[in-house]
Amino acid sequence: MNTRGYAVLKEGAPLEPYSFNRRELRANDVAFDITHAGICHSDIHTARSEWGSPLLPLVPGHEIVGIVTAVGPETTKFAIGDRIGVGVFVDSCGNCENCLKGLQNYCAEGMTGTYNGLERDGVTPALGGYSNKFVINENYAVKIPANLDLAAVAPLLCAGITLYSPLRHWNVKPGMKVGIIGLGGLGHMGVKLAAAMGANVTVFSHSQSKEADAKAFGAHNFVLTKDENFFEPHKESFDLILNTVSAEIDINSYLHLLKTDGTLVVIGLPGKPYAVNVFNLLRLRRSIAGSMIGGMPELQEMLDFCGEHSIVSEVEVIKADYINEAYERTIASDVRYRFVIDASTF
Ligand code: NAP
Ligand code: ZN
Repeated sequence: MNTRGYAVLKEGAPLEPYSFNRRELRANDVAFDITHAGICHSDIHTARSEWGSPLLPLVPGHEIVGIVTAVGPETTKFAIGDRIGVGVFVDSCGNCENCLKGLQNYCAEGMTGTYNGLERDGVTPALGGYSNKFVINENYAVKIPANLDLAAVAPLLCAGITLYSPLRHWNVKPGMKVGIIGLGGLGHMGVKLAAAMGANVTVFSHSQSKEADAKAFGAHNFVLTKDENFFEPHKESFDLILNTVSAEIDINSYLHLLKTDGTLVVIGLPGKPYAVNVFNLLRLRRSIAGSMIGGMPELQEMLDFCGEHSIVSEVEVIKADYINEAYERTIASDVRYRFVIDASTF
């Protein structure tokens, strides 16, 4: 299936137009026309070799939505014309303890990423969503609620689930105090989702200009982290803090903010190890944890939750030829709050 997209063709080079073929439909596959693909900071870390050398050609994109155009003979979930979404992985072993529990993101053999790796046949490169067509086994795709705008839904496929999953895992409930560090693509979804779950939400941001937006998204408090000793007034008061920052920050300051049995969940992946002062963990039995996207059942649950609460991402829709500029603006924290590519422009 002839497909047009954008790719990194040479390590360190900007993205450029690239045409390639996707597989013909297998029995359990569906094909779809991509309408929109979000730009996640992980795309940038990968394209810029911040997590090691990428597999080239690299077609990034793992926040993918579109309209089904063809279905394989053994599919049961989708019909032509349905709204469909694909996130950060396109396959997994399907048999391990985690896959059987619906935690395909933690597949024992490793999930098959939507890009920057090989499919499970070990030879076909996985090419992502910065493109106009996609083919996927229907078990790794989700349905998009009818009331949500497709462009604004795209970021839910990574940013949305990545914040929804830890909020659910740590049982966020009305009255709990939740902190979100970084009001970017992930962070702004975290604010909307945690507020919808009834939490008291505080945003920790290094951008003063985002205060009004944070409050409009449902945050109760906004803390500017550029202020020295910003944490003093908030000490020992949080149940859960989610760190979505794409750069290195001093997480020890944030440990002071957790109350007894509180947890700091690391989600942002700048790529270097963190230095942790363990005295801050021992005191008040605090935890540091990590969380990576979510499994297929939870991905659908999150979209249905967003449908019920009319939650979508704040997006700036761009044309394909703006991708490299959008990368620069994302790195400069100058995006309100997710760039989404109009796939008709590939
Ligand atoms: P993003 O839109 O660029 O947002 C990151 C935010 O971090 C910025 O908006 C900014 O918020 C803050 N920030 C950036 N540079 C900073 C600095 N130097 N100092 C302090 N704060 C800074 O990125 P994203 O797409 O949300 O992704 C965030 C991170 O999560 C990336 O590292 C990405 O790879 C990772 N990620 C992880 C998972 C997972 O499963 N765990 C999934 C997807 C992405 P303020 O302006 O409010 O300070
Ligand atoms: Zn992502």
